[in-house]
Amino acid sequence: MNELLTIADQNLVLHRHPRHKKETLQAWDSADEYLINHFTENELQNQLGEEGQLLIINDSFGALSCFFQQLKRTTITDSYLSLSSIKLNMQRNNCNEENFLIQDCLQTFPENVKVVLIKVPKTNAYLEYLLQQLREVISADTIVVATGKVNMIHNSTLDIFEKYIGSTKTSLAKKKSRLIFSLVESQTLPENEIATTWEIEKQGWKIHNHANVFSRNHLDIGGRYLMDNLPEGDFEKVVDLGCGNGVVGMTAMQTYPNAQVTFIDESFMAVDSARINVIKNFEEERSENARFVVNNGLLGFKGESYDLVLCNPPFHQQQAITDHIAWSMFNEARFALVENGELVIVGNRHLDYKDKLERIFGNCELVAENKKFVILRAIKSY
Ligand code: SAM
Repeated sequence: MNELLTIADQNLVLHRHPRHKKETLQAWDSADEYLINHFTENELQNQLGEEGQLLIINDSFGALSCFFQQLKRTTITDSYLSLSSIKLNMQRNNCNEENFLIQDCLQTFPENVKVVLIKVPKTNAYLEYLLQQLREVISADTIVVATGKVNMIHNSTLDIFEKYIGSTKTSLAKKKSRLIFSLVESQTLPENEIATTWEIEKQGWKIHNHANVFSRNHLDIGGRYLMDNLPEGDFEKVVDLGCGNGVVGMTAMQTYPNAQVTFIDESFMAVDSARINVIKNFEEERSENARFVVNNGLLGFKGESYDLVLCNPPFHQQQAITDHIAWSMFNEARFALVENGELVIVGNRHLDYKDKLERIFGNCELVAENKKFVILRAIKSY
C-alpha cells in the first residue's frame, strides 16, 4: 500500500491512524490531490498577504496540513483520530509546527482567514455548522474551495454552499473527485440552530445533539436495544465506549446509582453533547460524578480499572467501512476491565462480533436478540 504522496515538488510519507497491520487504504485521496494541484497551479498562497492565514477544514489524515507546511495555517476537525493522525504525520515529515494550529470544531474559528480549503464532510448538518461558523470569520476577498469524491457531492451539498457562502460552481471530475468554488457574497444568512434536541419519552430526557453526532435526529435502534438490556449488578465504574450523545451511559447512571460513568468518544461534538445531556437531565450531585473524555477508545487508560464497559461499536472510520475499530475497542475493554468485569455490546446480527469476543475473552454469551440485533456479554477472566 502506497504511503508516499509525491505532489507539486513535495514527497510526504503519510500513515492512517490508528495504524493496523493489514492496512489497505491510503492516508490521502484524489480529492486531496486535486485541491493541492488547484492551489499551487493558481498560486493561491498569494492571496494570504503578510498577515492572512489558510484555514483547512476536515483534513482526514494530514495530507493538507503537511503539504502547506510553509504557510500560516489552522486546521479544524471534529475527529480525535484525524487530529492524532495529522500531528503524527506532521512529525513524520518534520513539518515546522510554529506557524500551525490545530483545533476542534467547537472552538471559535480563527480570524484573518484569506483562503479556506474544505473536505466535504459526510453529513449535510455538519457542513452547515462549519459554513455557519466560517461565515463569521471570512470576508468578500476570502477564497473558498471545497473538495470531495463525486459521490459525496450532491445538489443538496451545493445548495448549502449557496445558502451560507454565495454563488457556487463545481469543476470537472478528475479521478472521481470534484472541486467546489464558492464566492463570498453578502446575503442574509439563516440563523437556524443546527444542533437538534428531541425527547426520549420513557425517561423524559431531552437529548441534545451537535451537528456531527451519530444518529442526531432520533434514538439509534441499536443504542435503544442496549439501553433496554443492561446487565443486573452493582457496578461502580462503568464506561460508555463510543458514547455518541451519551444515551447508553445515561441509562447506566440511572440503573447503577452508585456508579461513576465515563463517556468516551473520538468526536468532540459527541462528547460535548453527552456532557450537555448529563448536566441537563441529572441532578448536579449525580452529574458531577460523570467523566467525559475525547479519546481513541480506551487507549492510554489504566488496566484493571472498570467493572463494566458498554459499547455500541462503530463500523466505519470516515468514509471507510471497517471492523478494526470495534476489534480494538474490544481488546482495550478487556485490558481496562477488572477480573470478572463485563463487556456488554450491541451489534447487528450479521456482524461476527461473537467470534471476535470469544477470541479476545475466551467466552461470549448471547444475552438477547431480536430480528436485527444481538446483545453479547464477555467476561474478563484469567
Ligand atoms: N453510543 C451511541 C449510541 O448508541 O447511540 C453511539 C454509538 S455509534 C454506533 C458509535 C460511536 O463510536 C460514534 O459516536 C463514533 O463517533 C464513536 N467512535 C468511532 N470511533 C471511535 C474511536 N476510535 N474511539 C472512540 N469512539 C469512537
